[in-house]
Amino acid sequence: MPLYEYRCKECGEVVEFRSSMAAKEEMATALRCETCGSGSFAQIFSGFAVTNDTKTSPSGTPPMGGCPGGMCACNQ
Ligand SMILES: [Zn+2]
Repeated sequence: MPLYEYRCKECGEVVEFRSSMAAKEEMATALRCETCGSGSFAQIFSGFAVTNDTKTSPSGTPPMGGCPGGMCACNQ
């Protein structure tokens, strides 16, 4: 399940959550900043931070091209 990162537009607090693609938007709209209470968030696309597994691969070869979910542009 992909990890999504959102940044609070008011104070910059970063919130992470895991969600299915289908429920992502619903999760995002329900987010509340723990710091300032704002509900305004912007999604962060920081290289798709699912795991660090590819970086620690001993062979140095990326296991697969692209990202799960198909929303990422890295496979184009
Ligand atoms: Zn905030």
